[in-house]
Amino acid sequence: MDQLISLCKRRGFIFPGSEIYGGLANAWDFGPLGVALKNNIKRSWWQRFVEERDDMYGLDAALLMNRRVWQASGHESTFSDPLVECKNCHTRIREDQLPEDKKCPSCGKKEFTTPRQFNLMLKTFLGPAEEDANIVYFRPETAQAIFVDFKQIIDTYAPKLPFGIAQIGKAFRNEITPGNFIFRTREFEQMEIEYFIKNTDVWNDSFEMWLKEMNNWMTSIGIDMQKVHNLDVPKEELAHYSKRTVDVEFDFPFGKKELFGIAYRGDFDLQSHQTASGESLEYFDEETKERILPHVIEPSIGVERMLLAILASAYREDPLETTSSEAGEQEKRIWLDLPMRMAPYKAAVFPLLSNKPELISKAQEIRARLQGAWPGFFPIAFDKSGNIGKRYRRQDEIGTPYCFTVDFQTLEDNTVTVRDRNTMQQERISVSEVRKFLEGKMRE
Ligand code: ATP
Repeated sequence: MDQLISLCKRRGFIFPGSEIYGGLANAWDFGPLGVALKNNIKRSWWQRFVEERDDMYGLDAALLMNRRVWQASGHESTFSDPLVECKNCHTRIREDQLPEDKKCPSCGKKEFTTPRQFNLMLKTFLGPAEEDANIVYFRPETAQAIFVDFKQIIDTYAPKLPFGIAQIGKAFRNEITPGNFIFRTREFEQMEIEYFIKNTDVWNDSFEMWLKEMNNWMTSIGIDMQKVHNLDVPKEELAHYSKRTVDVEFDFPFGKKELFGIAYRGDFDLQSHQTASGESLEYFDEETKERILPHVIEPSIGVERMLLAILASAYREDPLETTSSEAGEQEKRIWLDLPMRMAPYKAAVFPLLSNKPELISKAQEIRARLQGAWPGFFPIAFDKSGNIGKRYRRQDEIGTPYCFTVDFQTLEDNTVTVRDRNTMQQERISVSEVRKFLEGKMRE
């Protein structure tokens, strides 16, 4: 984990937030490569589950919602964790996260206060007066907006069941014990789907479909599926409205922990909002001519947890012969085995030497042409600093799959070397083939 954190900082993926002011506990900022990776994850999810399906509707609701939403959903009264405090050193911790030996992680003593329920919603006030009537919450999940806007979607689009509504956005939780880098933070992003089905449908079929869909998607974005485990939450631990919840766990470097969840929530949410708002949220079933409240399957994913799982899946350290021309002074090669669609840069172009203007301008020309071929989503790096070995190291560490080098032969026969990140093998190809080469790799 330390190596991964160090790589993230060194290469501009993730920095500690507010660092020049001494930081802010468990706040992390995503640098240029981190935001590129995050965008690639979100884009891939949106493309697959919204754009490529004709039973899905996208949404981007306001983050601040009427307080009554959280009263109706039960969050105001029950979205809490049991908080205990060590009587010796006053460390506060979630009771259900105490280590097995029940010792305080800070001082090792075993005496705690009796647990009290601590509400996780972050509160603020709208407008100048800090009074009860102006309280609003930063949403602790994106899902509720989907239920609240359900009526808008059915009135506008008259979708046929089953259909889903999907949303990506920020969520906030005043976690008692955040930590493990970006695994548990107080501000994070979620990608959530509410998939509505008829109350008479065999819900487990939809549930299984979503488990499978998520597995396929995770495979496509480079998650090591050997490290993924489904935990069927035991009946006695299920929320009263849920008939089945699966916590999809991942072997993170700090242990097996929840990556995301899929829950069958019945009609609990629509029912609660219908009752509290007084608005009918019923759906008219054309086949049976009945008004029904659909049931729902909810796959709910944290973007940062998925990003951490991708990095943990991709991280590689290889021993290198110190005599190797590529190794420089390092004895090991650190690289990220990211799939091309996730890599922040799809390729890099270098001039072999940094002091030869004719090589630099040829390399810049190739890079500009490649980047222009797929505007927006095909970033190509350019690097002329240090020696070629160091540049390969840098691109390896950020997961760039291919590096093209312009040398003197390029000026004669219009060929470049292409070096493969995974095998470190090089071959010469014609400059006119470079674009086709990358397109082919992108499709693999
Ligand atoms: P946990 O048990 O880890 O607190 P949870 O079961 O409360 O998580 P959900 O409410 O099901 O989580 O939220 C759905 C997903 O949102 C989680 O599976 C996770 O990927 C992400 N998530 C939840 N809380 C956080 C957090 N504090 N930091 C980062 N991601 C989070």
